Amino acid sequence: MYDYLIVGAGISGISLAERLANDAGYSVMLIDKRDHIGGNCYDYFDSHNILVHKYGPHILHTNSLEVKRYLSLFTLWIPYKHKVKSNYRNKLYTFPINGDTINQFYDQNLKTRSKVKEFLSVSISSSKQECNSEEYLLNRMPKDLYEAFYKYYSYKQWGRYPSELPKSICSRIPIKLNNNNYYFTDKYQMMPAEGFTQMFKKMLSNKKIEMVLNTDYAKILGSIKFNKLIYTGKIDEYFDFMYGELFYRSLKMQFKNIDIEYFQETAVINYPELKPKYTRISEYKYITGQKSNSTTISYEYPSDKGEACYPLRNEVNLEHLNKYKKLAQKYQNVIFAGRLGEYKYYNIDQAVCNSLRIYEKSINKK
Ligand SMILES: Cc1cc2nc3c(=O)[nH]c(=O)nc-3n(C[C@H](O)[C@H](O)[C@H](O)COP(=O)(O)OP(=O)(O)OC[C@H]3O[C@@H](n4cnc5c(N)ncnc54)[C@H](O)[C@@H]3O)c2cc1C
Repeated sequence: MYDYLIVGAGISGISLAERLANDAGYSVMLIDKRDHIGGNCYDYFDSHNILVHKYGPHILHTNSLEVKRYLSLFTLWIPYKHKVKSNYRNKLYTFPINGDTINQFYDQNLKTRSKVKEFLSVSISSSKQECNSEEYLLNRMPKDLYEAFYKYYSYKQWGRYPSELPKSICSRIPIKLNNNNYYFTDKYQMMPAEGFTQMFKKMLSNKKIEMVLNTDYAKILGSIKFNKLIYTGKIDEYFDFMYGELFYRSLKMQFKNIDIEYFQETAVINYPELKPKYTRISEYKYITGQKSNSTTISYEYPSDKGEACYPLRNEVNLEHLNKYKKLAQKYQNVIFAGRLGEYKYYNIDQAVCNSLRIYEKSINKK
């Protein structure tokens, strides 16, 4: 008999299991259908002893001191500030778009924010309408820049053009007018010194937590006794897709080890044209700080099939989601959490923060 059954050993389920066992003293069964813990943040050493991220590069960035302090209970950190470039017509551009990108793309030498703004304003045909990602972007940049860096990249990433995507998707990527070349703007940017999986193992190292892998909860539900359920799997799946299936975009990762110290000049290089078919190449040693004579890179091929990666919060899916959320309110004994349980684009820090809030507000302490 367990106090809690938690479905999903991603960062959301792990944070809740940790709090329930370490802080409240509850017994927990944590179950995952994959053969590893960590969900999409899982990392491991490949056969060449390079630490790689199975589901694509993950960088911890947050403005929350609470999240930083909480995770620091389980890991030391190495500083890492993420840099991305975009390979357009075989030339590398700073990405996300900033003053440098504008100078490179238009062969200019604009030195200040105001000069960049002035330069752009001439060729931006801004409309008040901002109902989708294309309108959002075209209100902020000229069409040729948009087409070079966003239009076809988004098409490869989502199987849809920005005009078919909600504004929330492309507005997540900052557009800067200064020369700050870092991808994220958060106060704290770092990587767990021994990797995410080691950090997760420490979070789960309590005898009150029993970990079960390779197991779909639906298949063993009848055979486990528990008081409360925390569910971080797909909310639509929990309800047997009765209001329809919520769409997720997935990724197929192809890893390659190369016998050179570094393959490319920065951690991630985007390929924003229709060809090649992959969207980006990531080189993990930049992110983890690992030193080695060889290097491992990954190519990302977006796909509608595979593990759920990116929720698509458009009108149709939000309509289905609202029905599921209404139904979920009737299930007093179940807490839905995380990226899949709430169908929300949570970053790692947001997922942790959300789990800490759930623990604070919805769990009776012994
Ligand atoms: C390619 C990619 C790159 C990303 N990069 C970053 C980044 O750089 N920085 C950042 O902050 N965030 C990043 N994220 C987001 C990050 O991955 C999420 O914030 C995080 O994974 C959310 O954790 P979760 O526990 O909510 O969900 P998940 O990690 O999806 O975990 C859910 C778990 O539930 C399990 N599960 C589902 N159904 C069942 C079932 N029926 N039975 C048993 N188990 C089940 C799944 O197997 C999975 O392990 C990225 C995401 C992707 C896809």
